[in-house]
Amino acid sequence: MRVHNFSAGPATLPLEVLEQLRDELPDWHNLGMSVMEISHRSRDFIEVAAEAEADLRSLLDVPSDYRVLFLQGGATGLWAGIPMNLTAPQAAVDYVVTGHWSAKAVREARSFCSDVHVAADARDGGYTHVPAQDQWQLRPDAAYVHYCPNETIGGVEFPFIPDTGGVPLVADFSSSILSRPLDVRRFGVIYASTQKNIGPAGLCLVIVHESLLGRARSATPAIWNWQTMAGSDSMANTPPTLAWYVSGLVFKWLHRQGGLAAMGQRNEHKARTLYAAIDASGFYSNRVQSDCRSWINVPFFLTDPALDAQFLSQARAAGLANLKGHAAVGGMRASLYNPLEQAGVHALVDFMREFERRHG
Ligand SMILES: *Cc1c(COP(=O)(O)O)cnc(C)c1O
Repeated sequence: MRVHNFSAGPATLPLEVLEQLRDELPDWHNLGMSVMEISHRSRDFIEVAAEAEADLRSLLDVPSDYRVLFLQGGATGLWAGIPMNLTAPQAAVDYVVTGHWSAKAVREARSFCSDVHVAADARDGGYTHVPAQDQWQLRPDAAYVHYCPNETIGGVEFPFIPDTGGVPLVADFSSSILSRPLDVRRFGVIYASTQKNIGPAGLCLVIVHESLLGRARSATPAIWNWQTMAGSDSMANTPPTLAWYVSGLVFKWLHRQGGLAAMGQRNEHKARTLYAAIDASGFYSNRVQSDCRSWINVPFFLTDPALDAQFLSQARAAGLANLKGHAAVGGMRASLYNPLEQAGVHALVDFMREFERRHG
C-alpha cells in the first residue's frame, strides 16, 4: 500500500507516473524492450529527450535565448561546475548564505576561485531568515551572485528574487523548481537536481542564458562543460536514460495538473494548512521567520524532543513516512513536493493533533 511520503529526497513521485512506468516497462513503444535497454542515440530515445526538454520549457516558460542542459553529478557537482564554467581563477564571485546548501556551495567554490566573497550570511539567526537585500554587500564586478532560493534542510525560502543589477544571478533550485511559476529571465543560471521535486535521482538540470556559454576554463571536464553539453544536446556521453525518461513523464503529469500556476496554488495551500496547525499548537513549533517559510520543506519541532522517536514510529504506523528532520537541525521535517497530495497534509495534521492530545 502506498503511504504519504514526506521524504526530502529522493522523494515521492506521482502514482500515475509510477503506474505508467510499471505497465510499459517490459515492452516500451512496442519495441519488445524497456526504455532503459535502448541506445541513447536511438531515434526513440532522442525523441524522449527532446520532448522532456520541450515540456520543461513550456512549463517554466523558458525563453529561447536560454539553453536547457541535462547533466550528471548533481547540484554538488555544479558547485564546482559553476565556477569552472563561468570564471577564471582570479575572478570575484559573490555568495549569499541562508543555510546548509548555500554554505556548502561556498566551500566548494573556494577550491576554484581565489576571491569568494560571502555577501550576506544568515548563520546568526541559526539560518531561520533571509537577510534583507539592502544589507547585502554585493560587488558590481562579481562574475556572478550565487544563492539558494529554498534551503531544503532549514526550510527557508526567499520571498523575493534578488536584484543584482547586471551581475548574473545563479540559483540552486534543487528543492523548489517547478513548485510555482518563475520568471526565468531574472536569472543567468537556474540549476536543480532531479530527485527532489522532479523525478528519480541521476540528473541535474541547468537552465543557462546563452551569453554565459563559452566561458569555461580549459581544464573543465567535457561532461561538465556547458558549451560542449549544449552542443551535443546533453549527450556528450551516455546520460541516465531512465531518470531522463521518468522526469519527462513527470513534466507531462504537471501539464495535466494545470501547470505551475495550479501547482503553486496547491503547494501554497498545503503549506498554509501545515503551518497553521503548527502555529495553533503550543506542542509543535517552526522557527523560521514567517515571511520566508518554505512552501516545500517544513521543519518542525516537538516541545519535548524525548517524544521524537515515538512521534516518528507512530506516524509511520499511520502511513506517514520519512518525517525525521535532517541531522543538522533535528526534529521533524515534512517535504511537500508537487506529488504530495493535500490529503497527505490533512492526514499529517490529524495525526499531529491526535498525538498532541495523547502526549501534550
Ligand atoms: C539536495 C540538495 C543538494 C544536493 O543535491 P545532490 O543531487 O545530492 O548533489 C543541493 N542543493 C539543494 C538545495 C538541495 O536540496
